[in-house]
Amino acid sequence: MKPLIVANWKMNPQSLAEAKRFFDLLKYGTKSIRNVEVVICPPFVYLSNLKKESSNLKLGAQNCFWEKEGAFTGEVSATMLKNLGCKYVILGHSERRRYFKENNLMMNKKIKLVLQTELRPIFCIGETEQEKNRGEISKVIKAQIEKGLKKIPKMTIEDIVIAYEPVWAIGTGKDCKPVQVQVIQLLIRKIITGLYDRNTAQKTQILYGGSVNQSNALNYLKDTGIAGLLIGGVSLRPKEFIGIIKDVSRL
Ligand code: PEP
Repeated sequence: MKPLIVANWKMNPQSLAEAKRFFDLLKYGTKSIRNVEVVICPPFVYLSNLKKESSNLKLGAQNCFWEKEGAFTGEVSATMLKNLGCKYVILGHSERRRYFKENNLMMNKKIKLVLQTELRPIFCIGETEQEKNRGEISKVIKAQIEKGLKKIPKMTIEDIVIAYEPVWAIGTGKDCKPVQVQVIQLLIRKIITGLYDRNTAQKTQILYGGSVNQSNALNYLKDTGIAGLLIGGVSLRPKEFIGIIKDVSRL
């Protein structure tokens, strides 16, 4: 499987012209790269315009609602995203959990609907600084996975991407040590083995996210069991982001 590099643009940039400019730079900067899967997750409002730009970049969204359709003012459905050409949806990003009080039960409902819609959920998990200081990393990760994946059939598990993003490392410059990422990756596979089986756990694509930049990116992919990266801040710096993709393509 190709390494997977996901760009989370968050609530940026502020104009469609700027979004197209970033997208074009990425498109041309990566056009000869075939051995890395690159997914760009812009704000919803830019998706239909970026879809028109044909390229080797895939599109993803940063969130969606758990109901199929109906009276849910301000929400966006998985089917709308699918119809716009998205292949992936980020779910449970720590900023959604923090500012919009999204919880594991909501994650479970969203993951189920996204899978039914034949999109791939990028399910974000990770501990806060306080949880880390209290020695609760394993407890938190276990609860997030067990509740998030509750009653999700084994045959669809392969479509889920799990992104380990320690909350204290997101946007802070405090990057997590690759050895910790490796340990958490093993823990995630152990939990999935308990829920399903070893084979399913081995096949699960696990990403790392949290203050990734061009100097540390490759460390997370060498001998850590990590299949790719979820990148926030640096994904809005086209030159550095393209540099990471090129470095990964040479691995
Ligand atoms: C993110 O938004 O998921 C993220 C990892 O951000 P950053 O790379 O800026 O830490």
